[in-house]
Amino acid sequence: MTEIQDLYQQVILDHNKSPHNFGELNHADCSAEGLNPLCGDHINVYLNLDGNVISEIRFNGSGCAISKSSASIMTTLLKGKTIKEAEELFGKFHDLVTADMEIEFDDDNFGKLAVFAGVREFPARVKCASLAWHTLKSALDGKHLTTTE
Ligand code: ZN
Repeated sequence: MTEIQDLYQQVILDHNKSPHNFGELNHADCSAEGLNPLCGDHINVYLNLDGNVISEIRFNGSGCAISKSSASIMTTLLKGKTIKEAEELFGKFHDLVTADMEIEFDDDNFGKLAVFAGVREFPARVKCASLAWHTLKSALDGKHLTTTE
């Protein structure tokens, strides 16, 4: 039970209940749809770019608490960032959710992303947590559909 409680930290519950940047972005410069059939998560990510900078980012859709809170936290982190910074954060997130369990991640280096360190123990949940990031990458790469399978 402790592990499950660790997984559903308060930050995750809060973002699930009141997601940030939730909704469609009209006339988005790029967008993509992400599906995680294993869990039933389905999200859309919308972006507006000002040169290389993500000037606006929103998402909508439906899914479990992990997928929704991950998308919410991702949008708060990426607004105002450059595409390169977004890719670096994606790399960081990927490292976090695929690292060995004994590696500890502190809030100093990983900030809000650190709350997802707990998903490493639950491979199915890694897909939930990563869905928003893969969908973001698809949007930036000009692909419109991404799926975790
Ligand atoms: Zn899920």
